[in-house]
Amino acid sequence: MTWEEYEKKLSKFNVAEKDKEFLKRAFELALRVHKDEKRLSGEDFITHPIAVSLKLAKLKMDANTIAAGLLHDAVECSPETLKTIKKNFGEELSFLVDGVTKVDRIHATGADRALESVKKMFLAVAEDIRVVIIKLMDRLHNMETVGSLPQEKRERIARETLTLYASIADRLGMWNIKAQLEDLSMKYLYPKEYEYISNEIKKFAPGREKYLKKILRVLEVELKKAEIKPVEINYREKHLYSAWQKLERYEGDWSRISDLIALRIIVPDIKSCYGALGVVHKLWKPVPGKFKDYIALPKPNGYQSLHTSVFTEPRVIVEFQIRTLEMHREAESGIAAHWAYSEAGKPKRGFKSMGKKFNWISQLQDWNKELKKENTSSEEFLEALKIDFFKDRIFVLTPKGDVIDLPKGSTPLDFAYHIHSEIGNHASGAKINGRMMSFSWELRSGNVVEIITQKNKKPSVEWLTLVRTALAKSKIRQALRIYPKKSFLSSDKKLAEIRIYGKNRIGFIKDITSVFAKRKINIQNLISARSGSEEVPIRVTCVPKDKVELENIVLRLKKIEGVRKVAFILK
Ligand code: MN
Repeated sequence: MTWEEYEKKLSKFNVAEKDKEFLKRAFELALRVHKDEKRLSGEDFITHPIAVSLKLAKLKMDANTIAAGLLHDAVECSPETLKTIKKNFGEELSFLVDGVTKVDRIHATGADRALESVKKMFLAVAEDIRVVIIKLMDRLHNMETVGSLPQEKRERIARETLTLYASIADRLGMWNIKAQLEDLSMKYLYPKEYEYISNEIKKFAPGREKYLKKILRVLEVELKKAEIKPVEINYREKHLYSAWQKLERYEGDWSRISDLIALRIIVPDIKSCYGALGVVHKLWKPVPGKFKDYIALPKPNGYQSLHTSVFTEPRVIVEFQIRTLEMHREAESGIAAHWAYSEAGKPKRGFKSMGKKFNWISQLQDWNKELKKENTSSEEFLEALKIDFFKDRIFVLTPKGDVIDLPKGSTPLDFAYHIHSEIGNHASGAKINGRMMSFSWELRSGNVVEIITQKNKKPSVEWLTLVRTALAKSKIRQALRIYPKKSFLSSDKKLAEIRIYGKNRIGFIKDITSVFAKRKINIQNLISARSGSEEVPIRVTCVPKDKVELENIVLRLKKIEGVRKVAFILK
């Protein structure tokens, strides 16, 4: 591709004239660096960075990010390029290219590859979110062209894309990108299902579309009467992967999926959103429990919209999504929209300028520091990430009305530790919607949670079984002074040495061994202290099934009469 052809494409995405000279130089450098390289498909390598940079331009990213797209593989190819970039293009571009290169390098190393890259990636997020956006576009283009790779490699990349990159796109609110990554991964990982779902949708879509057009005409008339002027009304087809997931949930019953095609009403302002919602609900009966106000309570990734499903006929359900143009742009490109439409015109580095909406990123950063202090391994970090950041979330409220975002299954203690470790450590009771509830109560979206504290209150080992978040667990462990020395998450079983401190009375050993016997855990070795000595622990070596079992053993041992302290190390 020549510069002229490339420039034409940039103009299509409204890249400013003033940035063209800068981009032309980056384009020429990229051409030079990748001159003789080929991709596995036989194409010139340069087609890849060009495609990535155009995806970034389409997202309306700034010139430095688009240039970084052009040069993202350049340093990998010739390391001295980074110096050239710094000298000729400045600090910012070299910082971005370096960030992407660092993430890539980790890919090339041994067994911990995916794991380490996750970690690095998130550290990169902390430094500059644009590095992550570049990586997402890089992965998207690789997935689009993955067909020419050997099957095994293809599947590995697809799996990583599905579990990791799609989750990240989701967390950044980049729905569109997430949908593309998921569908492409599905195509290579589950080809039969992919074909089935896409064929079914093809069969079903035309009739549905025709029906929605009819609904749309009715709606337009009523909106006009209510003096609401929509900017746009369109359809949104559910992407294949999410249709498949929903179909699985409904045991293959297509008729139960009401949002395969949703109607989207885009209006000029928030007032019109609620106005349009009123019109929809006046025309058709809403389906109970399907209305969601993500304008008042945005999703943690910042997504805002009103969702509702209505019966347009006795047994026909249609889903509506109502939002402003600004919300729409953000829904399409998520965090990237903040670069594109920032009022100042020039985006600042990092996420801090993004305000409260992307709070979770700074949360993640704090929390990573916390875990590092405790020597947590990368496996544990990844596991914690998955649990706390990539599963379903719930939204609960503080008495003041602040929205707190927690993983599904969280309890009042998770909430307490999320607010502050002191509140967690001294929690004595919890009020949910004004009523006293036990600590084992599973929080639900919309709950107002108030934690009652008492100065003399302390955490107990039982709390470990009540909390869901890794943060709360680690804080409780800290308070109880239980320090796991090593990760327990790898699949091979680990030897654990449990040290029991206490008075070695008659029957003491028997009480201890019966804890293991009840759970059918074989004791491999038991070193008993001299009777009467409290300083030398009784040491029991065993192979517990997993962390939960180990925690249960510790909990039981602590309850034995005369036991003062229980600690363990993993070998
Ligand atoms: Mn690349």
